Amino acid sequence: MLDNAPFLTHNHAGLTIEGYSRAAVQSYWRIPELKIGFDLGAQPWDFMGTASWFITHTHLDHIACLPVYVARRRMMKMAPPTIYLPEYAVDDVRRLLLVMQRLDRGRQNCELIGVKPGQEIELSRDHVISVFETTHTIPSVGYLVWERRNKLKEEYHGLPGEQIRDLRLSGVAVTRETRTAILAYTGDTSPAGLDNYPPVYEAKVLITEMSFIRAKHRREKIHKFGHMHLDDFIERADRFKNELIVCAHFSTRYHDNEVRRLVEAKLPAGLRERVKLWI
Ligand SMILES: [Zn+2]
Repeated sequence: MLDNAPFLTHNHAGLTIEGYSRAAVQSYWRIPELKIGFDLGAQPWDFMGTASWFITHTHLDHIACLPVYVARRRMMKMAPPTIYLPEYAVDDVRRLLLVMQRLDRGRQNCELIGVKPGQEIELSRDHVISVFETTHTIPSVGYLVWERRNKLKEEYHGLPGEQIRDLRLSGVAVTRETRTAILAYTGDTSPAGLDNYPPVYEAKVLITEMSFIRAKHRREKIHKFGHMHLDDFIERADRFKNELIVCAHFSTRYHDNEVRRLVEAKLPAGLRERVKLWI
C-alpha cells in the first residue's frame, strides 16, 4: 500500500467499512462490497477503484478531494466516476471542476448527479439508496442503503414448486419486495438528523458522528453547529437498534485515550458493546 491518506477498516455482516473522519480535518468512507463511497475530504490511493461516491454536504473537509480523485481516475485510464451530491451544489461544483481543469490542464470528467431528501437511487438489482435530510450548518443529506429481496407471499407458502411456477407463468405476482436497511451514513449532523429519519436507528450498520464528548461542552451550542455529543447517544440509548454503530468525526482537541475512556465509562451496557469508536 502506498503511504497516503490514512484509513481504518472494520468488517461487519459481510460489509467492509473503510474510512477516516476527524472534525474539520477530513471525512471519507467506502464500502467495497457495495461499490460505493461517502464523502471526499481526502482520497487514499486505494479508494480510487470505487466509481460511485455520495457527498453529504459541501464543507471542505467532505469534498476538497473531488478534483484530485476525478483527475487520478482519468490518469489511470479508468471510466469517469459518478458523484451524487446535494442538488444545490451541482452548478457550483461543476464550475469548480472547470476552474481546476483550466489550472491543471487535464479534463475533469465525471457525472454529477444532484440529489434531494426523499429521493431514491437504484444502485443495483439488490440495493437501493434513500436520501434523507440531516441537520448541519449548511444544507446536508445522509444516505441509507436498503437491501431488497423478493419473498414468496404468505398465501403461497407450502405450495409445491411447480404450482408456484405455474402461477407465476400465468401472471400472478407470487412474491413481494422486502427491504432491509443494511447501512446508514449521516455525515455531519445534530441529533435531529437521526430523529427525523427513524430508519437510521434500524440499519444494521450506522456510521455517524460523535464530534464532542466532554461534559463541559455545551450541547445547545454543539447542536446549533450541527453536531452531536456523547450525551445525545446516552439519551437515545433505547432507540438504537443497530448491530453496529460506528462513531467518528471526533474533535481534534481530544486524545484517542480520552475518547475511549469517557465513552466506555458513560455509555450504558447494551449500547456500549455495539459502538465502534473510529480512532
Ligand atoms: Zn460539515
